[in-house]
Amino acid sequence: MSQAIRPLVPKTDVVLMGAGIMSATLGMILKELNPDITIQIFERLEVAGTESSDAWNNAGTGHSAFCELNYTPQKADGSIDISKAVKIAEQFEVSREFWAYLVQKKYINDPSEFISSVPHSSFVWGNDNVNYLRKRYELMKQSPLFSDMTYTEDKKVIEKWAPIVMQGRDEKETVAATHMAMGTDVNFGALTRGMIHCLEKMKGVTVHYNIEALDLDPDGKGGWNVFVKSLLNGEKDKCNTKFVFIGAGGATLHLLKRAEIKERKGYGGFPVSGLWLKCLNEKIIKQHDAKVYGKASVGSPPMSVPHIDSRMIDGKKELLFGPFAGFSTKFLKNGSLMDLPKSIKFDNLLPMIFAGVKNVPLTKYLISQLKLTHEDRVAALREYVPNAQSKDWELKEAGQRVQVIKKDKKEGGILEFGTEVVVAEDGTVAALLGASPGASTAVAAMLGLLPKCFAKQSKTEAWQAKLKEMTPLFCVSLPKE
Ligand SMILES: Cc1cc2nc3c(=O)[nH]c(=O)nc-3n(C[C@H](O)[C@H](O)[C@H](O)COP(=O)(O)OP(=O)(O)OC[C@H]3O[C@@H](n4cnc5c(N)ncnc54)[C@H](O)[C@@H]3O)c2cc1C
Repeated sequence: MSQAIRPLVPKTDVVLMGAGIMSATLGMILKELNPDITIQIFERLEVAGTESSDAWNNAGTGHSAFCELNYTPQKADGSIDISKAVKIAEQFEVSREFWAYLVQKKYINDPSEFISSVPHSSFVWGNDNVNYLRKRYELMKQSPLFSDMTYTEDKKVIEKWAPIVMQGRDEKETVAATHMAMGTDVNFGALTRGMIHCLEKMKGVTVHYNIEALDLDPDGKGGWNVFVKSLLNGEKDKCNTKFVFIGAGGATLHLLKRAEIKERKGYGGFPVSGLWLKCLNEKIIKQHDAKVYGKASVGSPPMSVPHIDSRMIDGKKELLFGPFAGFSTKFLKNGSLMDLPKSIKFDNLLPMIFAGVKNVPLTKYLISQLKLTHEDRVAALREYVPNAQSKDWELKEAGQRVQVIKKDKKEGGILEFGTEVVVAEDGTVAALLGASPGASTAVAAMLGLLPKCFAKQSKTEAWQAKLKEMTPLFCVSLPKE
């Protein structure tokens, strides 16, 4: 469905580059805090939320750290660190509060369009892993965030939680699982479109589709001139704004490099694409009702933790396994093969080389993933679903992640698997790099920008009161500067 090109608004308070979950969330937060604020959104595709935020492009896990074992690493001395899990669980609660607020205010009518209840389980086999899971459970259940977690080594109980995981499994195998009934599956694409449609109807908000943001230059008065191009007719145009948020997903790095701020220096990106095995057999899809996360194999990056995942996508139940890694030099699924080569600049060359040298296991892992055939992938699936048959599964492309590479004084350059928010010293530009835990923590990430980018307003009673109304939990620990 192609959309007519709308004239640009010459000057607004805010420009949001990209219409993914991050920009949509920030737009809604700002509009709630200040109904008079003017916002212009530029999206290069025809529809919002169709890159990484789209339901098929991510795993849709409401990352609450109930089942993701990479958030609770085991240290060399055998102890388990659950601090990251606690932080992510708290951030997801903030997201839930904000989404509940959107529903309560009738911005989004039907929450079932974007969120559904799906139990979260961790499942492991082998004595070492079972010992790890038991220890993890004992630590986690002490936190009120995880007090509902249950643990078992009883195969019959696990079979109740996830029948397809136990059917056909070697009876002698030692296994263990944890279970959280209150887990969620989130259609971040539907949520993004819900918020963008809402913004479109608000006074002072203009959303442009098929318009690519190209550049941003300081206007000499503390604001920014933003340069854009229509992807329908190639016409270029510009507008002016006080604040720019670069929420262009994988393409954020390109735009950040164009912003003349000192904070842009030293950042690079490494793209990793994802692939799912999608179940075609309705009987199996119906039988499974959980997100079951396992342990990533040695040497593989944290985002490659395998999981067999019940999904609810556009009203239909689905079943996905993965992600497997793929490689493309594109920074967006709908991007260009020149994205990676074009991102290499003088200021990030050394960090990228150092990060590359230090991440040989990742390179080896990616090469091994690229060599996989359908049968190899189904063999990996059989570790989770022993009775899986090749004919019941097909390969489906997921989204593109761009892992952050950044300058590091000690190491020269490091590869990060998390999310990084870059903010200009004067707070007039902010950018979100990376993609993990990603969409689930979008609300906390965007609220975190406020004291840096809207410092004065954030301190006002009116903003503080509204923030408390939208997300009481976040306000408990709201950063003041
Ligand atoms: C395989 C995979 C699994 C994942 N699983 C999960 C999960 O289970 N749970 C979770 O919470 N997160 C998950 N994530 C991460 C999550 O998908 C992302 O963190 C999140 O969607 C990023 O949102 P965004 O708004 O930053 O980017 P995007 O959703 O990619 O949006 C960016 C938008 O900007 C537009 N754009 C790009 N360049 C320009 C430009 N120059 N001008 C105008 N528009 C532009 C794009 O077209 C796009 O619409 C996963 C990601 C992947 C790839």
